[in-house]
Amino acid sequence: YQGKRGTSGIVVYAGGAVAHPTQWLVVQAELRHALERDELVLHYQPKIRLSDGEICGVEALVRWHHPVRGLLPPADFLPAAEQSGLIQPLTAWVLRRALADQRDWTTAGRSWPVAVNVSARNLDEPDFAGFVAGALAETGTPADQLMLEVTETALAGDTAIATRTVVDLVALGAGVAVDDFGVGYTSLSQLRNIPVSEIKIDRVFVSSLGRDPQSEAIVRSVIELAHGLGCWVTAEGVESPEVRRWLEDAGCDAAQGSLLAPPLTWNDLIESTTGDVRRDLPAVARS
Ligand code: C2E
Ligand code: MG
Ligand code: MG
Ligand code: MG
Repeated sequence: YQGKRGTSGIVVYAGGAVAHPTQWLVVQAELRHALERDELVLHYQPKIRLSDGEICGVEALVRWHHPVRGLLPPADFLPAAEQSGLIQPLTAWVLRRALADQRDWTTAGRSWPVAVNVSARNLDEPDFAGFVAGALAETGTPADQLMLEVTETALAGDTAIATRTVVDLVALGAGVAVDDFGVGYTSLSQLRNIPVSEIKIDRVFVSSLGRDPQSEAIVRSVIELAHGLGCWVTAEGVESPEVRRWLEDAGCDAAQGSLLAPPLTWNDLIESTTGDVRRDLPAVARS
């Protein structure tokens, strides 16, 4: 494994392990408190439909307002959460928060479905779908307003339980998206067994569109594959007008990226989308 030094100063390895055990334990202990003290926040990144430029969904991305280190990205704490059993309470928190926020922006006149990222560990929980059903019931959110994003790698491992979980989630009426498509190890035959509704093309292919014929060939065939499977296809990491145009021409359905909209706080998301919609926002204090 090739180690990479993150902003935290902790050496994070490709497999998600953290090299310095003491620091890792500190992160775990602090994260446990963070969940209790409500230090986590969700930012929301719009997904833009390329045919008309409208928002067609919003992805929840977790951050940690660390009392000392400031706003931390998921890469600084998700690996520790995944290896310590904290990913279950973390995902539970994210899911409940995202569903409550989805309900509130629907009340404010924006009927966008919300996408929640789940980790491989969650898919291997015996009754994850049952848990999701409970969270939907608590907030009264229709299941078709929820998309669960699972990475390709999460589906590629020991797939028996993961596949069952995906089937159960789809049976609930939720959508399942394959995230970071192209960099993992999903085989085409696995896709046949998993009823996914969306494929998200990893940004490593997207960023070089218009410059790199190899990436272009891959993206073209992923779009064709997705459509052949009856899936919606979204490109991640769209940072330039040229790339956006390329994707539009290639028949890609939707896009996300800094060109279109960065991840936003709930308030910024609502404020940046006024106009045709009602302004009677719920008076909920959010960070
Ligand atoms: P992801 O689900 O593939 O999310 C996309 C990531 O790309 C986000 O990083 C987003 O901020 C970033 N991004 C968006 N537009 C652009 C762009 O134009 N250029 C570039 N270079 N990056 C862009 P973020 O928020 O740091 O999240 C990283 C990963 O952490 C996510 O990748 C997802 O796998 C994971 N993650 C985030 N939130 C959660 C969560 O609540 N639960 C779980 N289990 N995983 C999460
Ligand atoms: Mg995602
Ligand atoms: Mg992704
Ligand atoms: Mg990614």
